[in-house]
Amino acid sequence: MPDEKLNPFKIAQQQLDEAAKILGLDPGTHAALREPMRELHVSLPVRMDDGTVKVFKGFRVQYNDARGPTKGGIRFHPEETIDTVRALAAWMTWKTAVVDIPLGGGKGGIVCNPKEMSPGEIERLSRQYVRQVGRIIGLEKDVPAPDVYTTPQIMAWMMDEFYWQKGYNEPGVITGKPLALGGSKGRNDATARGGIYCVREAAKTLGLDPSKATYAIQGFGNAGQYAATLMNEVLGSKKLVAVSDSKGGVYNPEGIDAATVVKYKLETGEVKGFPGTKPITNEELLELKVDVLFPSALENVITAKNAGNIKAKIVAELANGPTTPEADEILYKNNVFVIPDFLCNAGGVTVSYFEMVQNSYNFYWELPEVHARLDGKMTKAFNDVYKMHKDRKVHMRVAAYLVAVQRVAEAMRFRGWV
Ligand code: NAD
Repeated sequence: MPDEKLNPFKIAQQQLDEAAKILGLDPGTHAALREPMRELHVSLPVRMDDGTVKVFKGFRVQYNDARGPTKGGIRFHPEETIDTVRALAAWMTWKTAVVDIPLGGGKGGIVCNPKEMSPGEIERLSRQYVRQVGRIIGLEKDVPAPDVYTTPQIMAWMMDEFYWQKGYNEPGVITGKPLALGGSKGRNDATARGGIYCVREAAKTLGLDPSKATYAIQGFGNAGQYAATLMNEVLGSKKLVAVSDSKGGVYNPEGIDAATVVKYKLETGEVKGFPGTKPITNEELLELKVDVLFPSALENVITAKNAGNIKAKIVAELANGPTTPEADEILYKNNVFVIPDFLCNAGGVTVSYFEMVQNSYNFYWELPEVHARLDGKMTKAFNDVYKMHKDRKVHMRVAAYLVAVQRVAEAMRFRGWV
C-alpha cells in the first residue's frame, strides 16, 4: 500500500475529482470547484497578560458562494494550517449544498492553543481576528460560526467587535451565539442531533434496531458529548461502550451512562479515570465491535492502516474528514456503512442557517420547531444521498459528493460563471 497523502485539502480535491469524473463535469466547472474563490491570510498581534505582544496567524477562506453567502466555522488549533482551512471550506460548500440551504462554503482558523491562554487573551485574539477579517464577512457575504475550540462566548466577542466596526447590530454576521445575543434554540446540540437523525435513517436501511445499538465515540467535545446523550434521548440506546478525548479513552462493554460521563468530563476536563471503566487508547476505540462508531474529533483517524480493522456497522462521521480516501474503499468493501462527514454533521450549519433566518426576521422559534425543521432537512438530505448511493452503486461519500457538486455546479451555470 503506498503512503497515503494526508493533506486534507489534497484529499478534498481528490474526492471532488472522483465525483467530477462520475458526473462527467466539464473541465472548466471542475477546475473552478477545485480551488477556493477567495482567501485572506492575517497576522494578529495580541497583548498577552504578561505585557508582551504575541503575533498569531489566522485565515479566512471563502471557497464558493454560488449558492449564497459563504458559511463556516472558525477553529482555534495549534496545528491549524491553510490547507486544513481550505479543505474545511470546501466541505462546507458541499455540506450546505447537500442539505440544500441557500449558502456557500467558507472556513476560518487561527493557529493558537486556547488551552494555554487566559480568557482575556482569547477575547483579545478573537476581537483582533474580527478587526482583520471584518472587511470580508457579513450577513450577505460570509458568516462564521464555532468549530474546534471556539465557543458561543467567542462568537459573542466577535459579533460585538463587528458591531463596533459597523456602528449597528448585525447579529446574523455570526452564528452559534449565546441565546441572549440572538442565538437559536437548539444550536448547541444541532450537529450531533443531525447526525443522530442520519443514524436513525441508516439503521432503517440496514434493518438495525437503534434502541439496541452499541456505540463508541472518539472526541468528547460539543459534537461527541451530545451524540452520547442524544443516542439515548432520541433513539433510546443505552449502550455507550467507549468514549475518548485528546488525553485518552475509557471502555466498559456493559455500558457507560452517557449523562454521567458528560458531567464527569465537564467537571474534570477529561474522560480518563471515569469510575467503572477500563482505559482504552483512541486507536483501540476505533476498532471496537460496535453498531455505531462516531469519530467526533479531528481528521485522518481512519486510514489505510486501520480501516481493515474497523468492525462498526455504521460509521457516523461527526468530525470533518476523519476517513481518508483509501480507507473509504476498504470500508466500502467490508460493508461498513459510512454516513459521510458533510452529511452527518450538517445539522450544525442547518441550525446556524435557522439562526440567520431568525436574526433577519428578529423573531425567534421555540425548540420543537427547530427540531422538526432540522429533522426534515436531515432526513431529506440522507435520503437524497442514499438514493444516489443505490442508483449509481457508489459508496455514500461519493453519493453525497454527486448530490452536492451537481447543485453547486448548477448554480454556477445559471450565474454564467462556467
Ligand atoms: P470541540 O472542541 O468541542 O471538541 C473536540 C474534542 O476532540 C475534544 O474532546 C478533544 O479533547 C478531542 N480531541 C482533540 N484531539 C484529539 C485526538 N487527537 N484524539 C481524540 N480526541 C481528540 O469540537 P467539536 O465542535 O465537537 O468538533 C469536533 C469535530 O466535529 C471537528 O471535526 C469539527 O470540525 C466537527 N464539527 C463540529 C461542529 C459543531 O457544530 N461543533 C459542526 C460540524 C462539524
